[in-house]
Amino acid sequence: MAPICRLPQSVINKIAAGEVIERPASVVKELVENAIDAGATRIDVALEGGGAELVRVVDNGCGISAEDLPLAIASHATSKIASAEDLFRVRTLGFRGEALASIAEVSRLTIRSRPAGCPAGAAIEVQGGEVSPVKPCGCPVGTTVEVRDLFFNTPVRRKFLRAPQTELGHASEALVRVALAFPGIHCSLRHQDRPVFDLPPSGQYLERIARIFGQALADHLFWVESTDGPVRLWGYVAHPSHSRSNNRMQYLFLNGRCIRDRSLQHALGEAYRGLLMTGRYPIAFLFLEMPPEWVDVNVHPTKLEVRFQDSGRLYSQLLGTLRSKFLSTDLTPRLESSEPAAPWGAESCGQAAGALEDAAGGFQQRLVEWAKGKIAAWGLPTEPLPGAAGGAASGPNAPAGQSSSFNGAVGQVLANRELPTPKNRELDLVELDRCWAPVGRPEDDEVEPGESSWPASSAESSVAAAGPSNPQWTVQGPHSYGAGPEDAASPNGAPPKALQVHNRYLVAETEEGVMVIDQHALHERILYEQLRARVLAGPVECQALLVPEPVDLSPAEAATVLEHRELLARLGLRVEPFGGSTVLLSTYPAMLANISPAELLHEAIHQLMSSSKGLQPRDLLDALLHSIACKAAIKAGDRLSPEEIAALLAQRHLIDDAHHCPHGRPTALVLRREELDRQFGRT
Ligand code: ADP
Ligand code: MG
Repeated sequence: MAPICRLPQSVINKIAAGEVIERPASVVKELVENAIDAGATRIDVALEGGGAELVRVVDNGCGISAEDLPLAIASHATSKIASAEDLFRVRTLGFRGEALASIAEVSRLTIRSRPAGCPAGAAIEVQGGEVSPVKPCGCPVGTTVEVRDLFFNTPVRRKFLRAPQTELGHASEALVRVALAFPGIHCSLRHQDRPVFDLPPSGQYLERIARIFGQALADHLFWVESTDGPVRLWGYVAHPSHSRSNNRMQYLFLNGRCIRDRSLQHALGEAYRGLLMTGRYPIAFLFLEMPPEWVDVNVHPTKLEVRFQDSGRLYSQLLGTLRSKFLSTDLTPRLESSEPAAPWGAESCGQAAGALEDAAGGFQQRLVEWAKGKIAAWGLPTEPLPGAAGGAASGPNAPAGQSSSFNGAVGQVLANRELPTPKNRELDLVELDRCWAPVGRPEDDEVEPGESSWPASSAESSVAAAGPSNPQWTVQGPHSYGAGPEDAASPNGAPPKALQVHNRYLVAETEEGVMVIDQHALHERILYEQLRARVLAGPVECQALLVPEPVDLSPAEAATVLEHRELLARLGLRVEPFGGSTVLLSTYPAMLANISPAELLHEAIHQLMSSSKGLQPRDLLDALLHSIACKAAIKAGDRLSPEEIAALLAQRHLIDDAHHCPHGRPTALVLRREELDRQFGRT
C-alpha cells in the first residue's frame, strides 16, 4: 500500500462537493439558504439548461464585504457558528461553511456583493477552485451568485445529469421547499429567461401553498396544531380525497428547514390508515418548532436528515394531533366541478407541484356523469316545466330501454303538478319521492340486475327482496330508522328515503344534497370498526362449534397458525394442533356467524403468511380485520331489502369513520345541492 499522505485542499473540496453538490438543485438549495440566512426579503433564481449551464441567485440580503469575499469561498469558513457548542444551537440554515467552497471547486463561480452602506460592490471569481483576486464592481445592495458549467471539471458527475427539464424539476422543488417555509419572502424562478413562477410575499402559508400547488388543493387542507412542552406542531394536511402516488408531497419543516424523517412520515401514514387506498400517500405541510438544542442537525451533509432527542414523543404528537383532527372532521368527499389548474404549468414545476393527481378525480367525474344521466332518466326537468304535460320525461333526454309505464307514470305525475314558480322550481328528491309514491313504480320482478329498485316500498316486495337467496349479513346495533340526518324518517314514520341502484349503491337525500353510498364499502367499514372495537376491548365473543372442525393445512400454514395462536384466539378463532399439519378449530367469532369458520381461518392464514416479517401484531391484526370485514360484508350486486338498507344507514352514524372503507375507498360521496344547481345551470 502507498504511504499515508495529507490530501491537497482541492481534493478535499472535491470530496465535500461530492457529498453536498449532487446536481443543479443542490446549488439552488445552498445559494437560496445563504440568501435567507443573509436576511433577504427577495430572492430571484434564474437557470439555463436546467441549471447545468447557469444558476444565478440574486438576493437583497446583508451582502458580503470585499474583505470577506475570499473567506466566503474558503472551506470551513462561516459567519454562522464560532464554536463547537454553537453546533447544538444552530438557528441558521447553513453552518458548515462548505457550500460555496464545494460549488467553487466544480464550476465557474462569480460572486458580486455589496453590503448596505457600502458605496460600491466587489466581485470574486473562482474557476474549478482557482481563485482570482477580488475586484470592485457596481451592483445593488445584496448578493448575486452565478454558477456556470456545473461539473465542467468532473465529467463523471456531469454524465449523471438528466435532461434539462428533469433538472429544472429538481431545482424548482428545491426552491419550493424554501418558499413554503418562508412565505414572507418574494421568490421567483426563471428558466431560459422565461418565468416559471413568481411568488409575491404573503403573510399566509395557505396562500403560498395555493400559489404553488393550486387553489383546489388549498381548499382541501385542514389546519392542525398542537403543543407538547416547548414543541409546537402546526400546519396543513390534505383531505383524503387529495392524495398522491408517492410521498413527495409530504413537506416537513423543522425550525424553517425542510427535512425528511422516516419516523414522522410513518406517523403521517398511520394517521391516514384506512382513509387512503393502498399505494396512496397523504399530502401534508407540517411545521415543527422546538428549541435548537433539542435536535442535532449535523448528521447529514445536506442537513436533510436530523436527529431528534425524543423522536418517539414527536411520533405520538403527530399521530395524536392528526387522529383527533380526523375524528372531529366530516371527511365525506364532496363532488365538485374541476378546479382550474395550478397557476404555473405542471411541466415547469417539475415533480414538486406537477399536476396534482386527485385519486378520486376520475371516479368523481364518472359519478357526476352518472348522476346527470340518472337524473335525466328520472325525467326531472332542469328548467321550469313546460306547460305541456310530460314533456321532460318523454323528451329527447329520456333514455331508451326504460319501461314506458315508468316514464309515463312520472310524466303524468309531473304533468299534474303546479307549474313551478321561480321560488319552488328546484325539484329535489323529496319532491321526486312525493311524485313517485302514489303511482306505480316498476314491479320488483321487472327490475333487471343493474336497474333501480325502490326499497321504500310495500312490505311484500321487501320480503320478496330479502328472500332466501339474499345474503345473510349480521347487523349490529339499533335497527331503528332515521338514526341520523341523512335518513330522517318521513313525517308518517316511513322508512328512510334511500334508493338502491345497480344493486350496489344507495342514494339518499341529505340536508346538503344527495349522498351516494357504496353499500359494500360502508358495510365493510362498519364491520371493521365493530370488530376492531371488540378486539381492542378484549377477546371477541366466541361461539363454540358443536363439533370442532379439523382443518387440513400445508405444514407451513400449520406452523404459522400455531405460531399466532394467541392472536387468532383474540379474534375468536381457537385452534389446537391435531396431528400432522391438521389443526382443530373449536370456536369462531360470534359476530361473524355467516362465514364458514374454516374459510375465516384460511383468510387469516393468508394474511399472516403474506405479511412481511417483522410486522407489528397491531398491523397484522388490522390487516386481518380488514380482510375479515371485506369477506363478511354485503357485496356489490347484493339486492338489499328496505330493512337492510335502513339498518345499514342507521349504523353509519355509530362509527367514527364511516366515510371510507378499511381499504381507503370512499364509502359515500355527497353531491351537493349547490353543485347540482350549478351543473343544471340554475345558478
Ligand atoms: P455556510 O452557509 O454554511 O456558512 P457557505 O459556504 O454557504 O457556508 O457560505 C459561507 C459564508 O459566506 C456564509 O457563512 C456567509 O457569511 C457568506 N455568504 C454566503 N452567501 C451569502 C449571501 N447570499 N449573503 C450574505 N453572505 C453570504
Ligand atoms: Mg450556506
